[in-house]
Amino acid sequence: MNRPIGEPLHPTARELPPPERLASYPPPERWDDWEEYDAVAWPRKVKRRYSLIPTICFNCEAACGLLAYVDKTTGRIQKFEGNPVHPGSRGRNCAKGPATLNQIDDPERIRYPLRRKGKRASGQWERVTWDEALDDIAGRIRKALVEGRPQEVMYHLGRPGHELIYLQRVFHAWGIDGHNSHTNVCSASARAGYAFWMGMDRPSPDHANARFLLLLSSHLETGHYFNPHAQRIMEAKMRGAKVCVLDTRLSNTASMADWWMSPWPGSEAAVLLAIARILITERRFHREFVRRWVNWQEYLREERRDLPLTFEAFERALEELYAAYTPELAERESGVPAATIVEVARAIGQAGTALATHVWRNTAAGNLGGWQVARALELLVVLMGAVGTPGGTAPNVYNKVIPAPPMLPPPGKVWSELLMPREYPLAFFEMSFLLPHFLREGRGKLAMYFTRVYNPVWTNPDGLSWIEMLTNESQVECHACLTPVWSETAWFADYVLPMGHASERHDLMSQETHAARWIGFRQPVLRVAMERQGRTFEWTWQAHEAAGVGQVWEEDEFWIELSWRIDPDGALGIRKYFESPYRAGQKLQIEEFYRWIFENSVPGLPAAARVHAEVRRLPRRRQRLRDPREDRRGRRRQRGSRHEGGDAGRPGRRDRDRRGRARRLSHAVAAARVLLQHAEGVALARAVRARLHEEPRPPVRDRPRAR
Ligand code: SF4
Repeated sequence: MNRPIGEPLHPTARELPPPERLASYPPPERWDDWEEYDAVAWPRKVKRRYSLIPTICFNCEAACGLLAYVDKTTGRIQKFEGNPVHPGSRGRNCAKGPATLNQIDDPERIRYPLRRKGKRASGQWERVTWDEALDDIAGRIRKALVEGRPQEVMYHLGRPGHELIYLQRVFHAWGIDGHNSHTNVCSASARAGYAFWMGMDRPSPDHANARFLLLLSSHLETGHYFNPHAQRIMEAKMRGAKVCVLDTRLSNTASMADWWMSPWPGSEAAVLLAIARILITERRFHREFVRRWVNWQEYLREERRDLPLTFEAFERALEELYAAYTPELAERESGVPAATIVEVARAIGQAGTALATHVWRNTAAGNLGGWQVARALELLVVLMGAVGTPGGTAPNVYNKVIPAPPMLPPPGKVWSELLMPREYPLAFFEMSFLLPHFLREGRGKLAMYFTRVYNPVWTNPDGLSWIEMLTNESQVECHACLTPVWSETAWFADYVLPMGHASERHDLMSQETHAARWIGFRQPVLRVAMERQGRTFEWTWQAHEAAGVGQVWEEDEFWIELSWRIDPDGALGIRKYFESPYRAGQKLQIEEFYRWIFENSVPGLPAAARVHAEVRRLPRRRQRLRDPREDRRGRRRQRGSRHEGGDAGRPGRRDRDRRGRARRLSHAVAAARVLLQHAEGVALARAVRARLHEEPRPPVRDRPRAR
């Protein structure tokens, strides 16, 4: 049937309002008061009004944006959807993002501070107040500090909420070396491989602009940053980029890749070195990049004094160095056919500087010497000159922002041998999995031990050692488990302290999800919703209690209050770091902490806020700012427009124009913010002499007109 393009297929749809009233997401200028029909009431049309409050998912490290729909009548969160202006996730989430609602409504979640009764792990608990828990814990920490036992205070972390700098600030203020992590059973090996290359320990691939993507243990459906990465990998693929997955497992990603190389576990480095050899011997590598950025003179001076100090001599030395890593050797080691390795190597050579690579977790962590996999992978990136290029692989700090907090204390002068013992001088992160063994050997004890979203009894292979440690009160005098839910480890705690899920806490998030820098603000949406209605709260747990969630708190405020109680009169020099930067001598409020950061440490934000405030002051009808893609008369430029001899004038064009005009304040403000942040980010990158992506495009008014 010949139907004009743009006509709806179903006759009923012709009765619907014009298309500009259909949208993927509510426009930000209407987030304060959003109306939707209640789907459950269908077929009756029952309207519900919502306050849409942005926050950030907490179910993996990608930190995608969420919008909480807080019902204005019931005060409850009705649902979570994606936040369309979040730069990393762009409104899209995996299933775990909206499932935050299940966590909030979990009937078995912990709602009040609990203290054990009877013996440890006897399963008897009593409800206590936050005051009781804080006073006891603060007293123990104060005693340890005053008696010169700072190494007996330890905080053991699974998933960090906020950036590490918040915790450093707390523990440096206390003067302890007490931060323990799970990293040595997780990403430490891969991070070591990168750090030894460039001092920065993670890659940040620009998947969206790549011509070739080489992925090791970094899958679309399960890997790190997987939703933000996945959507950009798909974009690259749709533009014709090639994808190669080097993995023992036929993951979903591998099943969709152009090449799946399935090596024997632990043999990945052999495949990568064989690729490197082909790039070198066939002169497919970026000679000028290597000549300029690699310390080849130093190498020749130290390792090959028999050769002249010339780049050509270095090339010969490189060939000799990697001569043994033939595709045939790699095939014998890995089982991957030599012909496939050659094919992939040549495709990488064709990609030039648009080579995006990533490795995470199992390849590097699951094998002896796995850190060499990351090192060999980065060798390919360096050989191709794909460091920080469009479509290449940048060091993570190029695409990450960690704003400075107020009043950063100096690092403490304590060294805890329970974290970094002498006999492991090359440990890249804390030797956390050995803690029970160190305590059993009598190397120390813990007066106060915190676990935080960390379940070592379950996570570590020798869970029974952890049970032995946690039940021994002479080794661990007090254990506070900071957690939203019960776990095997919580069972062995003295205090189980309820901490909030994604939408119940403050954090700053910034991740290397793509080739750009962004920062996101996680906030407790029920507190924000009630504050918008004029209610005030000193602490987030009070807001949650008022909302019927229980006395669920957040770590940020917990550390402030705990620190204040450890040093109530300031004599230990701790309290001053938890005083307000705006009200001398008063206790720091969480709003003040982030206000100070946003005012002083986030480039571009104060300027963007001024633009936003200016625009909001305009009468509503003048709030329309021009979409950069529109001409002066507000018409959206279409690809193939009349100027280009395209489809202008055919049915449906007026609708498209109307849709373009319907983009109002939100788009313009978002565009202004992006431009400002881009400009300031570029200035910052220049200041640290970073290699940049292409220059920001000039404002639309300064660009040559399309003819
Ligand atoms: S990818 Fe991670 S941060 Fe994003 S929605 Fe899924 S679980 Fe949340």
